[in-house]
Amino acid sequence: MTTMKTTTTPAVGGGDVRLTGISKRYGTFTAVHPLDLTVPQGSFFALLGASGCGKTTTLRMIAGLEEPTRGTVHLGDQDVTRLPPYRRPVNTVFQSYALFPHLDVYENVAFGLRRRGIKNVRRQVEEMLELVQLGGQARRKPHQLSGGQQQRVAVARALINHPRVLLLDEPLGALDLKLRRQMQLELKRIQTEVGITFIHVTHDQEEAMTMADTVAVMNAGRIEQLGTPTDLYDNPRTAFVAGFLGTSNLVPARVTARSGEDIVLTAGGATLVLPAARCTVPAPAGAAVLAGIRPEKITLTHVDDAAGIPEGRNRITGRIADAGFIGVSTQYVVDSPVCPGFEVYAQNIDRDRRLVPGAEVVAHWNPAHTFGLDADRDGDAGPAHAEEEAA
Ligand code: ATP
Repeated sequence: MTTMKTTTTPAVGGGDVRLTGISKRYGTFTAVHPLDLTVPQGSFFALLGASGCGKTTTLRMIAGLEEPTRGTVHLGDQDVTRLPPYRRPVNTVFQSYALFPHLDVYENVAFGLRRRGIKNVRRQVEEMLELVQLGGQARRKPHQLSGGQQQRVAVARALINHPRVLLLDEPLGALDLKLRRQMQLELKRIQTEVGITFIHVTHDQEEAMTMADTVAVMNAGRIEQLGTPTDLYDNPRTAFVAGFLGTSNLVPARVTARSGEDIVLTAGGATLVLPAARCTVPAPAGAAVLAGIRPEKITLTHVDDAAGIPEGRNRITGRIADAGFIGVSTQYVVDSPVCPGFEVYAQNIDRDRRLVPGAEVVAHWNPAHTFGLDADRDGDAGPAHAEEEAA
């Protein structure tokens, strides 16, 4: 468990946030299907998903701003399901900041303490301002601050109440990209410093992956997959997750045989190898699977040099349909009978000048990077690029 370093430390302890069978219906519409979720104390947890997937509703049920249709919310041993928001040891930071415009930064941060009748607030307010690095802005009014600074005031104002859990509802949504990136690091630093549980709602996969220890990917009111950012990225269990976190090529394939620890697949005339341990479904001979591969794991070789490709690599032959230069890398689209619109990202180190639209190429990769998904569940959309489905 992380301990807090500030002396105005919000309370340590109190345990995990535990949702048990929690659901939310609005009339006949189910916004959140029954879900069980434990957020370990002290973790930075992200609920990630597209607009309307139910992440804010889930957060609001933890805050007490929304009453669950079924299920319970526990904070540590305490069942808080029926407690009003102000009686829960939880504070929420919203995208809109909701600062008091007529109060300066200092008084905005002091507000929670003054409301509780605490007279001597100076030391705590100053420490909070230091924590969010706004010590020099104490006498400014909110309109004299940048968006990022206002957001930091909102965080300080919430943390001074010593919540056990800080809920963040798209807190960086109103900021431009550069500021968002700065604030992502800033929020992560603050969380590490205070050591309390942060639960963060976002639709931005990069934001979730940058900050959170654990990410729950939500889709249509359900948690589709939960894990560390690297685990979700490397081992997506559904096409939705594969496409929501980055880009994936999903090649429709059929199982031909099992070879030791590997599954041998055929896809439009190509033979591909998939590690059995990375296949999310049972794959007997004849079964349909989607063979997934991330674009950055693939190398493109001009067909004239194909003889030099090492043995044992998965390979797909095709023609470059598009090549987009984006500085650090070039993003190729390769059309092949195996998989139209196959994406390959190549770092611009020693660029082969022959790799231009129209060129015939072999796309090849280490089979160990291949993952296998359920074609029956995920194959209907049949996209080569799962992010189209996720969008
Ligand atoms: P966003 O990122 O757009 O806020 P979200 O994933 O947070 O999306 P929610 O706000 O949790 O989604 O909403 C989930 C679903 O529940 C949506 O389809 C929404 O329209 C619906 N919903 C939310 N609040 C209500 C309500 N008070 N009455 C009826 N439907 C609602």
